[in-house]
Amino acid sequence: MRDEDKEDKILNILISNDDGIYSRGLYELAKRMIAFGKVTVVAPDKEQSATGHAITLHRPLRCRKIKLYDLDIDAWWVNGTPTDCVKLGVETLLAEDPDLIISGINDGENLGTDIIYSGTVSAAIEGSIFNIPAIAVSYAKHGEADFSLAAEIAYDVINQVLKFNAGDCLLLNINIPEIKNKSDLKGIRITRLGVKKYKNSFKEYTDPRGNSYYWLAGELIDGELGEDTDIYAIRNGFVSITPLNIDLTGYKDINMLKAWKFT
Ligand code: MN
Repeated sequence: MRDEDKEDKILNILISNDDGIYSRGLYELAKRMIAFGKVTVVAPDKEQSATGHAITLHRPLRCRKIKLYDLDIDAWWVNGTPTDCVKLGVETLLAEDPDLIISGINDGENLGTDIIYSGTVSAAIEGSIFNIPAIAVSYAKHGEADFSLAAEIAYDVINQVLKFNAGDCLLLNINIPEIKNKSDLKGIRITRLGVKKYKNSFKEYTDPRGNSYYWLAGELIDGELGEDTDIYAIRNGFVSITPLNIDLTGYKDINMLKAWKFT
């Protein structure tokens, strides 16, 4: 994402996430990214997972500069969504536009159709809307896992990404598989989004007053597991890198619709 002749430029990196500013994944990522340049964190004050691309319009946004553990970086929490954080960071809090926005490291994978709901991916998408290169990083862990290992892998991958010519590509979704040691990693795959489907999504319960309530849970049935998908890569021990764009236009249907005889 940078040209050869800019090799020595100090990168201005904005980091956000959806797990909240005090999450382990963000801390380990920020710590590693300091090697690339000036790191600034603008992240939600509490967990905002699965808030998608929501923005806050009907109440004030507050932010506060904090000391983030032992890191010698500027860090703000914002009482809003990941998208709010990136917007506020780029438009207000940072002295200059960042060269790169990284969102993560998310506690859990962001694969296939699930990325629509992802606050992690949405923070990166917001960066790309500003025309700033952006990367979402998620760790496909289940239960306790080592975020410092995930950050080490993220560092290695991003270090390579930064050396390639990315052309107009502004948005990458990176997932790291659950592994115990770095040597367990099978490699890096460039992938497309698969499809994730769930069954029995809602569990029904009864509250103390006899009324039903529902809790979203359900079992995952991997819908589409083609070998070129992100889901396949992660299930088989590869880092998955999916280039994304946010143009949702159904191009293949445009000509068909144009042939419809509207009056
Ligand atoms: Mn999350």
